[in-house]
Amino acid sequence: MKMKQLPEEFLKATPIMEAIEAAGFEAYFVGGSVRDIILNHHIHDVDIATSAFPEEIKQIFPRTVDVGIEHGTVLVLHGDEEYEITTFRTESTYQDYRRPDEVTFVRSLSEDLKRRDFTMNALAMTKEGELIDLFSGIEAIHQKQIIAVGNASERFHEDALRMMRGLRFTSQLDFDIEEQTKQAIMEHHALLEKISVERIYIEFIKLLTAEYRNKGLVSFVETGCFNYCPGLKGQQEGLEKLLTIPNEAIFETDTIAWITLIYMLHINEVTSFLRQWKCSNKLIHHVDKSVTQLIRRDTEEWDILSLYESGEEVISDVEIVRELIGLSSQKDEALNIYKELPIKSIRELAVSGKDILNVLEESPGPWLGQLLGHLEKSVVLAQLPNEKEALLIEGKKWKESH
Ligand code: ATP
Ligand code: MG
Repeated sequence: MKMKQLPEEFLKATPIMEAIEAAGFEAYFVGGSVRDIILNHHIHDVDIATSAFPEEIKQIFPRTVDVGIEHGTVLVLHGDEEYEITTFRTESTYQDYRRPDEVTFVRSLSEDLKRRDFTMNALAMTKEGELIDLFSGIEAIHQKQIIAVGNASERFHEDALRMMRGLRFTSQLDFDIEEQTKQAIMEHHALLEKISVERIYIEFIKLLTAEYRNKGLVSFVETGCFNYCPGLKGQQEGLEKLLTIPNEAIFETDTIAWITLIYMLHINEVTSFLRQWKCSNKLIHHVDKSVTQLIRRDTEEWDILSLYESGEEVISDVEIVRELIGLSSQKDEALNIYKELPIKSIRELAVSGKDILNVLEESPGPWLGQLLGHLEKSVVLAQLPNEKEALLIEGKKWKESH
C-alpha cells in the first residue's frame, strides 16, 4: 500500500532519508507517526529507523547529538528540525521483565519491527510513502484493535510496561484491546511491579489526560492493572466513580488529573500517595493545597483569607475540577476577587521584620512572626492600608498589648 500525499512533517525529513540511502543504507519512517497518518491524526514527531549503525549515521551528518547512542539513537539536527534516528535492533533475553539485557544492532528491518509492541506500531514507511506491513497493522488500525506483535504473553514478559502502553492507547485512540492480548494482560498484570514508577507514570498520565479517558480507565480496572500501580491497590470502587465524569470533561493538565483522581478516590494521604508516584515537590505541594481547598469548597464558599492563602493557580484548578465533576464553578468571580487583594504575599507587605525591630527597639523572638502575621492578615482583609507608617503604628499597639 502506498500513501498518496505525505504530510509536511514527512516531506521535510526527505533530505535526511536521501542522505542515509545515498550512503548505502536503508531508512524508514517508523512508530507512532506512521500509525497516525493512517488515522489522519496530527503528527507530532517522526521517528526514523535505519540499517546504519550509530557511528555510521554520525559520519553522514555534520550536526548530531548522542541522545541514546547505547540504544542506537542519534539525534540529527537539520535546519530548525531534529530527528531521532535509531538503528534497527533486536532486544535479547529480558530477565527482569523491564529492559533488555542487551540491545543488538541488526541490518534487517523485519527483525526491528518484530520487537515492537503492537501491530499498529510495527509499521514502516519509505520516503516515497510505501508502507511495509509485516503484521497486518493496517488492518488492526482500521478495525481499531490493539494487538500484540507475536505472542502477547511473551511480549509482556519481555517488557511489562507494554501492558500500560496498551491501556493508554485505548484512551488516546478509542481502540479496543484484542481478546488474546487482553487475556494476556489480565494474566500478567502483576509483572507491572517490576517496572519503574517513572515509566508507569508517563503512561498513566497519558491515559488520564486523553480524549477517551473512560475507555482507558475501564481497561485499567478490567485488566486489574490498577492493583499494581502505586497507591491504587484495592481502589476499584473509587476508579469506577471516576468513570461517572464524562470524557468530554477533559483533564487538560497532569495537575488537574491528579487533583481529580485524589478527590474522587478519597485519598487522604495526598503527599505520601504522590511521593509513591515520585512526583516533584512542586507538584505535590500544589496538588495537596488544591485538594484541601476542593474538599473545603464542598461545604463553603471562598473567603478572602482562603483565596489569599491559595493563590491564583490553586483557585483556578479547584474551580476547573469542580466544573469537570459537575459542581457549580465560580472561577471568574473568585479570581477577580483574588486579583483585587491588596497584597498577594507577605513579601509585598510595606514593612519588614527589620523595620519593626528598628522602630520598636526590641530583640527578635517568636513575637515578631506573630506580629507580621497579624499585620499581613489585617492588610489582606483591608482593615489596614498597606502603608509603612500605619503598619508601624499598629505594630507598636499590638506589641504593647502582647
Ligand atoms: P506516541 O504517539 O505517544 O508518541 P508512539 O507509538 O510513537 O506513540 P513512542 O513511545 O514514541 O510511542 O514509541 C515509538 C515506537 O517505539 C512505538 O510506536 C513502538 O513501535 C516502539 N516502542 C515504544 N515503546 C516500546 C516498548 N516498550 N516495547 C516495544 N516497542 C516499543
Ligand atoms: Mg512517538
